[in-house]
Amino acid sequence: MRQAGRHFLQIPGPSPVPDRILRAIDMPVIDHRGPGFADLGHRVLNGMKRIFKTTQPAIIYPSSGTGAWEAALVNTMSTGDKLLMVETGHFAHLWQALALKLGLQPQLIETDWRRGADPELIEQALKEDTNHQIKAVCVVHNETSTGSTSRIAAVRKAIDAAAHPALLMVDTISGLASADFCFDDWGVDVAVSGSQKGLMLPPGLSFNAVSEKAIEASTRASIANSYWQWSEMIEANARGYFPYTPSTNLLFGLAEAIDMLEEEGLENVFARHIRHAAATRAAVEAWGLEVQCVVPEEHSPVLTAVRVPQGSDADQLRAAILSQCDTSLGNGLSKVAGKVFRIGHLGDINDVTLIGTLSAVEMGLHHAGVPHEAVGVQAAMDYLKTTRDVKANAA
Ligand SMILES: *Cc1c(COP(=O)(O)O)cnc(C)c1O
Repeated sequence: MRQAGRHFLQIPGPSPVPDRILRAIDMPVIDHRGPGFADLGHRVLNGMKRIFKTTQPAIIYPSSGTGAWEAALVNTMSTGDKLLMVETGHFAHLWQALALKLGLQPQLIETDWRRGADPELIEQALKEDTNHQIKAVCVVHNETSTGSTSRIAAVRKAIDAAAHPALLMVDTISGLASADFCFDDWGVDVAVSGSQKGLMLPPGLSFNAVSEKAIEASTRASIANSYWQWSEMIEANARGYFPYTPSTNLLFGLAEAIDMLEEEGLENVFARHIRHAAATRAAVEAWGLEVQCVVPEEHSPVLTAVRVPQGSDADQLRAAILSQCDTSLGNGLSKVAGKVFRIGHLGDINDVTLIGTLSAVEMGLHHAGVPHEAVGVQAAMDYLKTTRDVKANAA
């Protein structure tokens, strides 16, 4: 049966694709070797450098984010190399599993999945690695399974404090273009991202940003690879082209997304996300529920993971919200399955989208019989009313 109105896709990626981007994608395919293509190529490659806040190369692959994870490792590592990885949640775990499959040796710093990476533990592990076996420190910027962010600038400081030469690799698949990310200023060596989260595009593009030090490491790395090779990409990209067929229509969409982000102003985009996350937490607290992330300065601006009370099932709640309110929320992944649901507040959303989403949650809590105080939406509105000016809020 037809459902009237728009489906609320409030999972933490893919995020809803704005009409402007859908229209930009709805174009005839052009010749990716033709003379007109380079304008588009340069436009998106330069635009992505601005989004990553870097003057170093940005690389665009036709793949999901997982491909760019693999690209980060196969370009820089040799079989048997050691990595230091922090298990902040499910996505950090998946990156580690990928590294194992590639024949690398991850050394793991575990967490309780309720916080970001601890820079002190990273510094300690690097200081203990006196003969510099660890070749890279891998951290997830925004852990999408728990709603915790890691403080990347502090991680860089920890690496420097240990005087360790390891590369700093950061998964900002769900962080980029929603949470501030400063590739150059933070001294990141390889960043990994994807199209379907803060960039508001359909799934299908992934990204690396790469430092000179990472490119230098790539000349010595020996894991066999071909499709992901940075060198061929960088060479073709210099002329505005790609070594193989790019995802032309997603690149039309990407150019539009970059325009939209810059029209709003990147810093305003980040402030909007911080404000919507704070309003969401106000709702969660008023419902009498608990936010998964327990460190205030590490609360994600992208999504909020909410714990359901003992005796309630988060998946039953999500099913009620979907059937009654046509709203999709994120599920709890692996360790927190059934215990957590995730409210995405990323991408192309405004105050009313957020309040609509939180209303769906509040009605769903009722329908699913989850014990709560039905005053969360009001608390979120009260917060939004008192913080109306996004720019003033950012200051
Ligand atoms: C979505 C996501 C991934 C996986 O990206 P795919 O596009 O599904 O391959 C990895 N890491 C994080 C932090 C994510 O949010």
